[in-house]
Amino acid sequence: MSTYAYLDGAWVNSADAHLPISIQGLQYGTAAFEGIRAYSCHTGGLPRPFMAEEHYQRLQTSCEALRITLDNSCEELATLTSELIERNAIRDDCYIRPVVFKTMFLPGTPFGVRLAGVGHSIALTLVPMKSRLGETTRLGIATTRRVPNASMPTRAKISGAYVASALAVDECTASGYDDALLLTSDGRVAEASTSNIILRHGGELVTPSLDQGILPGITRSLVLTYGRETSLNVCERPVELIELFNADEVILVGTGVEISPVTSVSGNSIGNGATGEFAAALIEYFRKLTRLAA
Ligand code: PMP
Repeated sequence: MSTYAYLDGAWVNSADAHLPISIQGLQYGTAAFEGIRAYSCHTGGLPRPFMAEEHYQRLQTSCEALRITLDNSCEELATLTSELIERNAIRDDCYIRPVVFKTMFLPGTPFGVRLAGVGHSIALTLVPMKSRLGETTRLGIATTRRVPNASMPTRAKISGAYVASALAVDECTASGYDDALLLTSDGRVAEASTSNIILRHGGELVTPSLDQGILPGITRSLVLTYGRETSLNVCERPVELIELFNADEVILVGTGVEISPVTSVSGNSIGNGATGEFAAALIEYFRKLTRLAA
């Protein structure tokens, strides 16, 4: 764990940052978070946070879903992120975890499960984390389904929703897979535990549309733009499970996994069972983008 963390306007020693056990974020999962990678560059200097402002814009959206108004602007949070890296004297790739969580009932708020009338805090921590760009994934299909939008806004990255991802990962890794695919409530393709999924069929990129209850991934958006720029036809729509097995390529995209070609789905090979041509080009594009000199 890093030495310094940011907590509600102050820089604190991570080891000293204790929280009361009664906080609502802990009791009810009422917290929103982000994961931001920072990449070191061959020209030296501090690792640079990748697409920090986009992550903070999503954090703002997630907070709105929890009826929280962030005290800092996205720009301020991006600056704090760079300061976190600097204060911890990090020189190599790392991962920043901003989290905003509900704390205590404000005076006059009765005890109970609620969003209104509850205070909030913000914390930023970081951990060293190497890039895993291009590592392949053997994907299993979990019986646990993605939490539907009807239960919780899926456009928001809310802590409580990750119980479904954790259950799905445990189930699939216990069966020997690397990661889990979660289906929508009606059995269509949603996303993997912490990443979006993109298929290539010939000259077309296909990915579940946002109305399928997926998280609007920042990497997903970047990859779809890259696809359009490289003359692929990009199609966002509901995706049937069978389409996965017939795809030329299946790729997981997200901050944590970066770009990860899927070599098999529930034991069935995808394409020729290795990194495909689109994924290979995408990995190189992503590498250049993230390692770009400032
Ligand atoms: N879906 C889920 C459930 C995730 O946790 C993530 C990681 N934030 C993603 C998709 C990918 O989003 P992004 O590319 O913004 O990291």
